[in-house]
Amino acid sequence: MKKIAIMGSTGSIGRQTLEIVRKEKDLQVVALACSSNIELMEQQIREFKPRLAVVWDELAWKILCLRLNDIQVEILQGMDGLLAMAEMEESQILVTALVGMIGIRPTIHGIQAGKDIALANKETLVTAGHLIMPLAKTYGVKILPVDSEHSAIFQCLSGEEQNPIERILLTASGGPFRGKTSDELKLVTKEQALKHPNWAMGNKITIDSATMVNKGLEVMEAKWLFGVSLDQIQVVVHPQSVIHSMVEFMDGAVMAQMGTPDMKIPIQFALFYPERKWISEGKLDLFQIQQLTFEKPDFHTFYGLKMAYDAGTAGGSMPTVYNAANEMAVDLFLRNKICFHEIPEIIQAALESHRTVINPNLDQILATEQETYEFIQGKY
Ligand code: MG
Repeated sequence: MKKIAIMGSTGSIGRQTLEIVRKEKDLQVVALACSSNIELMEQQIREFKPRLAVVWDELAWKILCLRLNDIQVEILQGMDGLLAMAEMEESQILVTALVGMIGIRPTIHGIQAGKDIALANKETLVTAGHLIMPLAKTYGVKILPVDSEHSAIFQCLSGEEQNPIERILLTASGGPFRGKTSDELKLVTKEQALKHPNWAMGNKITIDSATMVNKGLEVMEAKWLFGVSLDQIQVVVHPQSVIHSMVEFMDGAVMAQMGTPDMKIPIQFALFYPERKWISEGKLDLFQIQQLTFEKPDFHTFYGLKMAYDAGTAGGSMPTVYNAANEMAVDLFLRNKICFHEIPEIIQAALESHRTVINPNLDQILATEQETYEFIQGKY
């Protein structure tokens, strides 16, 4: 029996993780955490009966405590709750599927408590990869990528531990606006941006896919996960989303991992690694797909992706600024405060105004995040 704790259980990755738990009898949920969706949280707690539950929002936490006074479950609140959950003795794997940088501290505490991390929270490695990866090594825990691309790379590397990576070919669908010009992007609506051609995901990451900032974050994430330099990572636009990423070795051999665009495959792979488990639905039908195509990314129109390479190369606190500025810009966009094309403009302005902190510690990372928010709040 594998015991798992899921942070972000009401989000897209969290819900799909619980679908896997429903079907796999040898998984047990010992803790669940959500931001504020207590309707769904209540159902999840009644169904999966975790020992511990955590709610980020204080008011939502109070209401949930009242609603669940008929069953035995400990319900904690806020960062203290997340840290207690990260360290709880019963769990073996911590699934980090929270949105945003609040995932960093719980991840660090989880690693220090010896938990393997099924990582779906990109921000953790983007902003603190230089702290997380050495820490995981020190404590001998695995960082198991849940992102489809990184899971693909991870799968391509299995059995190749002795062989250095020549290049990572990180695939991208190109999102709903692939092929559009900068001028055309000025006219797109929120509804259009929220319609991803292949993947069903949460709102934040769907917008990030439309700007290609998601791919930028993934480039930085891949650098830390697989110990390569940024110039070894090539983004390949592959609209069919059948190849989830590739690894090229020094003899020119390229390994690719393919499958239907379904997050259950990478989630399940992380939970049971190195074992594979049966999934009945959604098998790949190559005769139906017929063609796989590849394009170079348009760094001019989607300069959010270009800026990720620049921020990643500058290093230090710059990736934190990139991530935090994007987080806030996407929030403004989703609340109809700004237009789509202003998202990369805001990131650019934030990056330009920031003075890099070299090798930042956790406090400096969190301070940089705060400064970036304040910089944007002062303008919009
Ligand atoms: Mg991805």
